Amino acid sequence: MTGNTARVQAVQNITNRQPMPVKTPESLTSLWASDVFTLSKMKESLPKEVFKSVKKTIEAGEELDVSIADVVALAMKDWALSKGALYYAHVFYPLTNATAEKHDGFISVQSDGSVISEFSGKVLVQGEPDGSSFPNGGIRSTFEARGYTAWDVTSPAFIMTTDNGATLCIPTVFVSWTGEALDKKTPLLRANAAMNKAAGRVLSLLGHTDIAPVNSSCGAEQEYFLVDANFVNHRPDLLLAGRTLFGASAAKGQQFDDHYFGAIPERIQVYMQDVEEQLYRLGIPAKTRHNEVAPGQFEIAPFFESANVATDHQQLLMTVLKNTAKKHGLVCLLHEKPFKGINGSGKHVNWSVGNSTQGNLLDPGHTPHSNSQFLLFCGAVIRGVHLYGPLLRAAIATASNDHRLGANEAPPAIMSVYLGSQLDNVFEQISNGEITGSLNAGVMNLGINTLPIFSKDAGDRNRTSPFAFTGNRFEFRAVGSGQSVAGPLVTMNTMLADSLNWVADTLESKLAEGANLDAAILKTLKEITDKHGAVVFSGNGYSAKWHKMAVEERGLANLRTAADALPVLKETHVEELFDKLGVLSPVELASRFEIYAEQYILAIEVEAKLVVGMAKTGIYPAAVKYLSDLSSTINSLKSNGIELDNERLVKIAALLTSMMETAGKLDEAIRRHDFSTPEEHMQFCAKTIRPLMDEVRHYADALEGEVADELWPYPTYQEMLFIK
Ligand code: ADP
Ligand code: MG
Repeated sequence: MTGNTARVQAVQNITNRQPMPVKTPESLTSLWASDVFTLSKMKESLPKEVFKSVKKTIEAGEELDVSIADVVALAMKDWALSKGALYYAHVFYPLTNATAEKHDGFISVQSDGSVISEFSGKVLVQGEPDGSSFPNGGIRSTFEARGYTAWDVTSPAFIMTTDNGATLCIPTVFVSWTGEALDKKTPLLRANAAMNKAAGRVLSLLGHTDIAPVNSSCGAEQEYFLVDANFVNHRPDLLLAGRTLFGASAAKGQQFDDHYFGAIPERIQVYMQDVEEQLYRLGIPAKTRHNEVAPGQFEIAPFFESANVATDHQQLLMTVLKNTAKKHGLVCLLHEKPFKGINGSGKHVNWSVGNSTQGNLLDPGHTPHSNSQFLLFCGAVIRGVHLYGPLLRAAIATASNDHRLGANEAPPAIMSVYLGSQLDNVFEQISNGEITGSLNAGVMNLGINTLPIFSKDAGDRNRTSPFAFTGNRFEFRAVGSGQSVAGPLVTMNTMLADSLNWVADTLESKLAEGANLDAAILKTLKEITDKHGAVVFSGNGYSAKWHKMAVEERGLANLRTAADALPVLKETHVEELFDKLGVLSPVELASRFEIYAEQYILAIEVEAKLVVGMAKTGIYPAAVKYLSDLSSTINSLKSNGIELDNERLVKIAALLTSMMETAGKLDEAIRRHDFSTPEEHMQFCAKTIRPLMDEVRHYADALEGEVADELWPYPTYQEMLFIK
């Protein structure tokens, strides 16, 4: 291996690395939720009446009785102290995709100088972190920076342990002192409540009398990359932006398909086990792990849980993935596109709605045509995606996710619904006005005697659809790997609430007109297919033909960049949707647009500055040194009578000149700040800054293929993706 000193040293460090000691895993029963203040732990430690009251709030969504907070706080503190915690923290989720926490000690100094540990109901229920440094999108000015955190009883408290000690963590919502939501959890709880109310209306029109609260569920499949920290430390782009802004493709990428589901490398498996052990302690049901398509890429998927808890757990999972990687000498990249030319990472959000009395409301059973309840809920989703597709697109719009969507590895930016052949057929019958039967799913005989006969899924898989029905749930596949799942879940629950209210209104009016229930249902379903069938698409979502047809014939939006998508948050019908369902007030929604737009602009500015810096201070010096070495060699050979043509010299010099010229233009573009609106500034980032960055990279990557490897300053794709 050649390479400059830093790169050689990095490879040496990795080669000589002592493997992490392999621990014998503890039994699942001793690990499971050992760091969570679970219902069963509450049952053990709380007086019966208090426990009953808390349980009601958690399970039936009843209002929290604040008078019991002192008793719960005491039990929680005793449990936390027994786990070695000296601090507690209100954990909340600001609008940055990150997790925030403010730590306070249990310590209380007494008048005689002694200390006791103290934790009252008041501080359990409410905290007041200084909110001024969190983005608020104009809701508050810094002089009125009060922000309040309030205990979310429905998500369990837990202990976060690091090598430096343990902290009791309490999931909370985060609101301004005027009561506006400043976080991702508040609207999620509100959207879920709105969906519950609307679902209850539909269920009772269908004749149900015993209807438990309807909740949404989420199972998120998380993709990520692991790169050795020795390399990352020499890549300013990975360190600051989480993705490579330069780098020529390695000779080998993912073309052999030899990584997907391959044997997990031992070092990685040790890491994964470490991650899973911590997740189990935290009560996070990690269930699936495997290599992903790209070299160095992996996936972890916990079993699904209620959307609110799953969202908190998703945040924790990302934290655990990152922190544990550090301990193993790795860096976990959650960026949607860390490496050019190979697949990026997404987060498939599996979503369903259901309750304990009617079960999963998106489960069709074996004969969907007879299951009108399922068809109404499924139809409501179709209506929602058709009416609010652009909003779904906006909910996943970030600078980093733009690299992935529509790049023939991830779903397109056009929001359509995939149902599968069986359901397609049922909805076709509906649009013809008569339901006769459902295509028999049939049995798929694999022809191998030792294997069981599988019952064939009623619908095949379709990897190219952003929003696919997968048997008993929908899978939103366009979500980015680094994102909180809260935004997508808020959007899905809100659009569903709106559609279910429409279904209930329509059923009510048809019944009032004298139709019987079956006829009213069929008419309602037919209205959905007639008006919203255009959003259903079963073909290849990657094809250019679809992109044209979707826009020109079906009238669907193709919002390619976040700059195109985020302004959807300002549209009147979106504002009305969130407002009428009590999910986000117009002020709250407007603040979200401001924040997301700002984050988009800032992310691109940071990257652009890195591009200029790395081109000038890393790549230019290396290429110039090579040019000077080469030309003196050519000259000295010449004096010895040997002619070496100087074609390479000329080529490298030309590339270098072009790179520096473009870097200069980019540098100038970053300095422009005279924009009248965030929309204009975002478009400038998308249409001017990004293409200039790509152009600088184009020349730099070509130089990487010309300049002597021993001079190249940055770890290469080959090193980062293949050396572990
Ligand atoms: P895939 O075949 O799509 O890769 P995985 O097994 O990796 O499937 O992940 C599927 C995810 O969907 C898991 O998190 C799983 O728990 C979740 N899931 C399964 N059923 C439901 C449901 N009814 N509602 C929500 N999520 C579900
Ligand atoms: Mg999946």
